[in-house]
Amino acid sequence: MKKGIILKALSGFYYVEDLETKETIQCRSRGLFRKQKITPLVGDQVEFLVEPDGNGYVMGIDPRKNELVRPPIANVDLALVVFSVKEPDFSPKLLDRFLAVIEMNQIEPVIVLTKLDLMTEEEKQAIEPIIDYYREIGYQVIETSSKQEFGLESINELIKERIVVICGQSGVGKSSLLNSLDDSLNIQVNEISKALGRGKHTTRHVELHKLSEGLIADTPGFSSLDLDQLEPIDLSQCFIEFYDLSEQCKFRGCLHENEPRCAVKAAVEENEIIPTRYENYLQFLTEIKSRKPKY
Ligand code: GDP
Ligand code: ZN
Repeated sequence: MKKGIILKALSGFYYVEDLETKETIQCRSRGLFRKQKITPLVGDQVEFLVEPDGNGYVMGIDPRKNELVRPPIANVDLALVVFSVKEPDFSPKLLDRFLAVIEMNQIEPVIVLTKLDLMTEEEKQAIEPIIDYYREIGYQVIETSSKQEFGLESINELIKERIVVICGQSGVGKSSLLNSLDDSLNIQVNEISKALGRGKHTTRHVELHKLSEGLIADTPGFSSLDLDQLEPIDLSQCFIEFYDLSEQCKFRGCLHENEPRCAVKAAVEENEIIPTRYENYLQFLTEIKSRKPKY
């Protein structure tokens, strides 16, 4: 049996890249997993065979590391969270939302700042403490400019041999970034930008494209509205520095709201946590709590 990875799923066909030959084979599914009602996903590591008549069949699916619903992809290694520093302005609130949702999905986020070339020295100084904060709590932040072509090498390094989703508002420079990472992607970038430019997620096929030495989804990952998968306690765990501190809160399951002897609130008062981060947390918490029950 051959091993491969599903790069595209469309109309009952799976396009599997053979791990050895790097050829893409069009396959149908036939394995035992069908009885277990498991549907192959883009990103799946699979076993497949090719019959003498040339027809390929996916026979088995390796256990998944994770599974995204939107876009439907398995085994995502990395989410590039793209924010421009200007045009549109950098938004800590939107960033915190994306980070929470990505943490919830147990995917590693990397913050990519774009359009650094547009910033004046003063503007840089204003934004720096915020950026430093995200670095301090453990996030990698890469500063880039597609226009001046810097910061791109570190992204290339990062995506090597990994499955990557890209997310961020429209207009922040996602397509430009992908294009400057790999100009052979030109045709696909048009597709990507079309897909990324779309406000709503319509049902379309998802495809992994080779970018540099990694694989990148041509559909943006996560909508900033996806907080609705979270419960209040999940949210507190998705703010990673709060999670670390919560051991020192008096109450287990502390939501860092009005509870006495809360280590997170103490850290906010000590300026160890930046105010915007805590404000955003409280606001998301309220949002989650006031959400209508699903059933
Ligand atoms: P997307 O919607 O996230 O894919 O964003 P685009 O890549 O289409 O870029 C939106 C706009 O920002 C375009 O007009 C780009 O030319 C511009 N842009 C993208 N990257 C940069 C950059 O690094 N510097 C500057 N000055 N403009 C950029
Ligand atoms: Zn607390």
